[in-house]
This record gives sequence, structure tokens and C-alpha cells, in this order.
Amino acid sequence: MSTTLISGGTVVTASGTQDADVLVAGEKIAAVLARDVTGTGADGGESAAAVAADRVIDATGKYVLPGGIDVHTHMEMPFGGTFSADTFETGTRAAAWGGTTTIVDFAVQAKGTSLLATLDKWHAKADGNCAIDYGFHMIVSDVNETTLKEMDACIAAGVNSFKMFMAYPGVFYATDGEILLAMQQASRSGATVMMHAENGIAIDQLVAQALAAGRTDPVNHGLTRPPELEGEATSRAITLARVADCPLYIVHMSATQALEAVAEAREAGQNVFAETCPQYLYLSLEDLARPEFEGAKFVASPPLRPKSHQDSLWRGLRTNDLSVVSTDHCPFCFKDQKELGRGDFSKIPNGMPGVEHRMDLLHAGVAAGRLTLPRWVEVTSTTPARMFGLYPRKGVIAAGSDADIVIYDPRARQTLSAATHHMNVDYSAYEGLEITGRVVTTLSRGHTVIEDGQYRGTPGHGAFLARGLNQYLL
Ligand SMILES: [Zn+2]
Repeated sequence: MSTTLISGGTVVTASGTQDADVLVAGEKIAAVLARDVTGTGADGGESAAAVAADRVIDATGKYVLPGGIDVHTHMEMPFGGTFSADTFETGTRAAAWGGTTTIVDFAVQAKGTSLLATLDKWHAKADGNCAIDYGFHMIVSDVNETTLKEMDACIAAGVNSFKMFMAYPGVFYATDGEILLAMQQASRSGATVMMHAENGIAIDQLVAQALAAGRTDPVNHGLTRPPELEGEATSRAITLARVADCPLYIVHMSATQALEAVAEAREAGQNVFAETCPQYLYLSLEDLARPEFEGAKFVASPPLRPKSHQDSLWRGLRTNDLSVVSTDHCPFCFKDQKELGRGDFSKIPNGMPGVEHRMDLLHAGVAAGRLTLPRWVEVTSTTPARMFGLYPRKGVIAAGSDADIVIYDPRARQTLSAATHHMNVDYSAYEGLEITGRVVTTLSRGHTVIEDGQYRGTPGHGAFLARGLNQYLL
């Protein structure tokens, strides 16, 4: 079994930082070796581990992190007659460039089809194509007796989180009654229901009114989905989950009103959790209002909010009312895809690229004094692992865990741009943004994926992860 020693770095985990070397044997972390702080070592030279290792990676001056875990991605997802632009191959490669070593993507049940057939279909898309490990959540869009029975079979197959929609009537939308039934079913097994919480019925009326009045620009996507309707849906989802006694995870939270509802439920001891995404921390309604249809680049649901919401989201990350940052990576090219909505904002495919820059953008939050270093790792890796049943295999630098390791240079400068990113999409939502920090090396189960500015991975190295239950349940 080949061994690698990552020496000289600062190991950052959710519980703190430590000057330590990390020994990797095969695909696992074999040991975390605290260094003598005087820097000389007992023998005044190379450690015994360094002498014995097949390969030594010098991480002096760098952070050594557990690989990022992005629990919300949509690779090659069908939406509105087109597909999101990253395949599992291109999307997982871009993820690795940005220090993410695990994604959990969504299998999408189409109406009239079975959950298990859906899962097979998504396995076929991902199998043999991923540069990093991956799991699946299941989107339930057709609640009926068969679907409800199949949820247990999904859990047995390692898929134990089920996403439902209070938005998109006629597509993914589920009624309160259907949501309640699915929550009751999930609750019997301890599975988690994930919710897209926006009041789609009311939103559709506002959209129709805007279009009838000739308001067709992208900014109207935001104006017709007011934050109050995210707050209302979030409260309703929490109430339904309480009645069904089901763990609830609110996806891509964007609004202060929704955060307040989650904070109150958590205060009361309910198993309610929430994630936000970098776009809601950094971008705003002003971006949706960019002229010349450029706002279309920023169309996602829930929409980008007025800037005033950003401070509450950062605060929520500190107080743990927001426990996870994922990306909702769902890229559509500006040309030919976003352009489907010229003259009618409701036809713009919903989604933004982001899988490559989550670790960097949250590190920028550390640099700006909004998060601590351990909290950065916690919200991007450790908590996602625990929330979705992957810990301690993933999400930590510890003996016995998978050697999913990122070496990160906290002082490097980079400028985000479509010209240099690796996502298969023709624009960057952060074009020209200068940030401090960048990935130097990414290892997935001990194998080098990114090193020296080169992709050295292999499609097909990434393996499917059968996940356990949420590890935070009371
Ligand atoms: Zn999504």
C-alpha cells in the first residue's frame, strides 16, 4: 500500500487548528501526527514518518482540510426543455478544482415514473464519469401509494433524503397533503425531507400579472418571488414536519423571513435544519437587474434578494441556524439556454453555476472576519457529512477517514472568471471578483485529482456513496 505524508501544514477541522503532518496509506488517513512546535523535531531533521513515506507533499504555510462536501448539485438535470450544462464528468472535475471531494446530487422523479427506476437512471448518468465520490438525494414529484412504498427501498439503497417542492406548480409542486404523506412515510424510517420552500401558487399569480403588464425583464423573476412567500412556505413546511414528526432540511435559504422561522423551530427543539448558498451571501437583486438581459445569468429560485438579507444569512451561519453552505449548482449557458427567456423572464432556465467556488467564497468570508476558520470547514464539510450520513468516513481529518484532503493556500490571490474556471458554462456569476485563497492540491481517497495547477484525476475514480441517516436527530 502506498503512503503519502503531507508535512508542514496547519490541519484545520471543525474543532480547531493544529500544526500536524497527515499520513495517508492507500485510500485512508493513517495518522495525524502533531508537530513539535519548536519546529526542530526530536531528531532535529526529517520525521520518521517522512523517511518511511513513499511520497512527501510539502504543505508548509498551507491549510490541510477535509475535502469539501457539496450536498446540493444538479448535474445534467432536465429543466424546461433543456439540461443543466455540466455533466457528472465536467461538474465533478470542476468541484475538485475548487476543493470539493464529494457531491450529493438529485435524482429527479418525473411524474408517472417510479423512484427506483429514477435512481437507476441517475446511477447510469454518474457511473464511470465522476472524478470524486458522490451520493444522491431523491426528488419526489409524484406522491402516490407506489412512490411512498418505494421510499423505503431508496433508503435501503443508500438514498435517505427526499426533496419536495412547494414551488413550480404543474412540474415538481406537491400539495400540503402530499407533503404530509411523504413526511409521515419518511418519519417511520428516520429519513429527512428536504424542502424547496416558496409559495409557488401565489408566485404564479404574481408572474402572470407581471407578464400581462409587460414586465418581462429578468429582474421581475426576483420581484414576483418576494421573500415573504419564502418565509410563509418555510413556516408551513416546519408545521407540517412537526405534525408528521419528520426531520426537515430547508434547501437554499435566501430570506431573513425564512431564517427567522427556522431559528424559532430550532429554539423549540424541532429537528429543522437549513442551508444557504454563496450566491445569497454575495449577490443580490441588483445583479438580477443588470441591463441588456445580463440579469438572466442570476436567475435561480429562490431569487437573489435585496442586499439587506445578506447580513442575516452570515449571522445565521455563525449561530448555526444555518448549518450548511451548498451551491445548488445548476448551470445554464447564457447563450442559447438563458436566452430562451428573452422577452419572458418566466422562461429563463432557473439555476446558476457555483460548484467550483464554494470553498473559496466561504474562505473569503473568513478573510473578511465573518466566519472562523474551523467554522468554514464545519459548514462546508463536516456538518454536510453528519447531516447526510457520511461522517466520519467523510468530513474530517482523522485516522480511519477517507483521505479526501485539500491543501489550501490562504494567501494566494485569484480572480474568478469564466476565462479560467472549469465549469462547463460560458459565464461566471462572480466575473472579476478578486479573492484571497486558493486550492493547491486535492486528494480523493488518497488519489491526486488536482496538483500543480493540473487536473490529474480520472473519470470513474469517484464512487457512489450509500449514506446513513442524519446524525443530528434528537
Ligand atoms: Zn436545487
